[in-house]
Formats: sequence, structure tokens, C-alpha cells
Amino acid sequence: MKITLIQGDITKMEVDAIVNAANTSLLGGGGVDGAIHRAGGPAILEECRRIRDRQGRCAPGEAVITTAGKLPAKYVIHTVGPVWNKGNEEEKGLLRSAYISSLQLAVKNGVGTIAFPNISTGVYRFPKEVAAEIAIAAVKDFMAQDNRISNLIFVCYEKENYDLYSRILQS
Ligand code: ADP
Repeated sequence: MKITLIQGDITKMEVDAIVNAANTSLLGGGGVDGAIHRAGGPAILEECRRIRDRQGRCAPGEAVITTAGKLPAKYVIHTVGPVWNKGNEEEKGLLRSAYISSLQLAVKNGVGTIAFPNISTGVYRFPKEVAAEIAIAAVKDFMAQDNRISNLIFVCYEKENYDLYSRILQS
């Protein structure tokens, strides 16, 4: 069981599942969501549409799973992070839930290796350091309870996030 940190593009990851920082519509957006749909092709959006027709929007803190189209990963786990708004405890809890829900769905689907982007730190404006602390605590707590994830990779697109994670993971 290990946690790995890299700086790069999550769409390139050869893992069982990559996590998408989606929005409640599940119908695609900018940032990492746009990159995943662009690289993965229309099959992912098609599945998202079917899920949405069946169960409606995906609430912040929850997650759904699809195949990964043309991506090297097997699955995409779409989770919705909270939008930062003054930083009340609800937002922090919802960010933690986004990580935990994704991991629960991952192990339910036999995923052993998983890559996460820095959920909510782009358009959703979560302060990067607060988000990093929450993300790292959430995955460590989960992995301490459940040994089915053998490798968890934080994929930071930006150097600022990479440096933050690097510092927090070392301490
Ligand atoms: P949110 O709406 O949850 O804030 P964004 O996609 O705007 O989602 O940003 C989340 C994080 O994803 C940001 O830190 C951004 O730098 C990062 N990101 C953008 N493109 C990629 C990519 N191709 N691979 C990994 N991370 C990415």
C-alpha cells in the first residue's frame, strides 16, 4: 500500500481508475473534466448521460463510475467536489467525502491502483493548501481501514500543488 506523488496529466495514467473532478451535471466541463472527455472520447460522456438519466445529478461529495473510453485507465470515477464559499465546515466535509466516496466506489469495483487530481482546486477555488491537507488525511484514513488499494497516485497538474503535497506527505 503506497501513496505516490507526480506532476503531470492524469489522462495519461495507466492505472485501474482515474478520478475526475466533475460537476453535478456529469455532462463535462473545463479543467481536468474537459481533458478527460477530450482524451477519452465520446463513450465516457455517453455513459455519464445514461447515469444522469437514471439517477439525476451527482451531488457534491458523491461519485459515479464509468469505463474510460480510449484512455489507458480501465475506469473513470467521476466525483463532484464542493465550490469554495468562505470556507465553512460543510465545504471541508464535502471535499473529504469526494475522496472517500471515490475510494469506496473504487474498491467495490475491484480497483487496486487509482489516480486522483486535486479536486476543487481549480474553478471551484478551494485554497490549495487546505484542499491538500484534506485530501491527504482522507486517503490515509481510508487506506488505514481498507487494504485493497495497493497504489494511490496524486497527480498534480500544477507545480504549486505538487510542492504542497510533497511537503505535507513528508511531514
Ligand atoms: P474543480 O472544478 O474541481 O476545481 P478543475 O478541473 O477546475 O476542477 O481543477 C481541479 C484540478 O485539476 C486543478 O488543480 C487543475 O490544475 C487540475 N487539472 C487540470 N487539468 C488536469 C489534467 N489534465 N490532469 C490532472 N489535473 C488537471
